[in-house]
Amino acid sequence: MDSSLSKSEEALLRLKNGNVKYTISGFFTGEIGERIRKETFENGQKPFAVVISCSDSRVIPEVIFSCGIGELFVIRVAGNVALDTEMASIDYCVNHLGVSLAVVLGHTNCGAVKAALKGHNSGLVARITSDIQKGIGREQDYCSASKLNVKYQAEKLREAFPSIKVAEAMYDINTGCVSWL
Ligand SMILES: [Zn+2]
Repeated sequence: MDSSLSKSEEALLRLKNGNVKYTISGFFTGEIGERIRKETFENGQKPFAVVISCSDSRVIPEVIFSCGIGELFVIRVAGNVALDTEMASIDYCVNHLGVSLAVVLGHTNCGAVKAALKGHNSGLVARITSDIQKGIGREQDYCSASKLNVKYQAEKLREAFPSIKVAEAMYDINTGCVSWL
């Protein structure tokens, strides 16, 4: 790694390279064997980034970024929203694990964003859709709305955790590519 890069820039570069590795190889290449399992058991975890991603079964952050055991602190929640419990998880990650990069990872064909656009506000799902609606405002275009949601959630993280770098990204569930906003 280039020593002139800050810790958060280096972490972001690792994620970018990891996604390229995944899309070129088409395989999961993260280390998940006995060696790393024992090492992280004995020495504890030192993840280099926290990723807040959708729970969608087609979006698997470790696979997308070619990361194995101990590398990513992942929060998965429908619509990749940053509400109280997600914020609390990030707080732990930043202040106890020393992580300096957070990524809000949206994705194409997100059901939670579609539900928010359609105005689905009943039951418990409303906790998620109403928050997404705050981020997308009057936007009706699905692609633009998905990006606005990512930006809105990222902005909340920037306000709550000014000491870390917050990156915004969209994952294409068809190509496997992550685009950085
Ligand atoms: Zn989704």
